[in-house]
Amino acid sequence: MDDMMTITFLGTGTSQGIPVIGSNHPVCLSKDSRDKRLRVSVLVSWNEYNFVIDCGPDFRQQMLTNSVSSLDGILFTHEHADHTAGIDDIRPFFFRQGDIPIFAHKRVIDSLKRRFDYIFADENRYPGAPAVQVNEVFKDTPFEAGEMDVVPIEAFHNRLQVFGYRIGDFVYLTDVKRVEEDQVQKIMGAKVLVVNALREEPHHSHFNLEEAVEFAEMIGADKTYFTHISHLLGFHEEVEKKLPDNVHLAYDNLKLNIPIS
Ligand SMILES: [Zn+2]
Repeated sequence: MDDMMTITFLGTGTSQGIPVIGSNHPVCLSKDSRDKRLRVSVLVSWNEYNFVIDCGPDFRQQMLTNSVSSLDGILFTHEHADHTAGIDDIRPFFFRQGDIPIFAHKRVIDSLKRRFDYIFADENRYPGAPAVQVNEVFKDTPFEAGEMDVVPIEAFHNRLQVFGYRIGDFVYLTDVKRVEEDQVQKIMGAKVLVVNALREEPHHSHFNLEEAVEFAEMIGADKTYFTHISHLLGFHEEVEKKLPDNVHLAYDNLKLNIPIS
């Protein structure tokens, strides 16, 4: 059998998660576990390597739920808090393994340095503070992670540049409203596409459901999964019924296996 890459959806919710604190919206009160969505992140594992894409405020809980005991790096899409606020919780990995590699656009690294200055400090380090090994990501320069090539894909979240990533036949894009043609070419031929679908109403910086379905059909991956979902999109079970055959809503703790060719 071929080597496999395993994708675990750690969180599939938009920035507030589902349920939203204090909300009486029916989706926030749903008893269906697929309607409970932590902040968006995925674990990508192969040959004993574990990488996460983003580490939002639910990172600790996500690592515990999935019994992740080692971490080879974090690939960041962008600096918004729902994608970065859990970085302090790399501490248990840091204590066991040393500096944790992070991969991000320079702007994102600069933002993390301002907001988590103690992680990046060279002198007078607080005992117990974690440390990272910084890797800058450039739009058209693939890089190596865990002996695999990772292809950065540039997209736009309203006017903010974000990175998605292609690892083998897996493509992960979130917080996307627009992808330019030259970057679309990097996605073509992927077997599994993950992309954001916020809600039915249009939004200035995210694909709504219709835009996400159009994008999925344009790419034509074997399977497409939607993530970064708002409670306003509706109940998982009902939305799922409206989607084309090879397009699904992701849900927390869903796992996919993709052959590594
Ligand atoms: Zn987000």
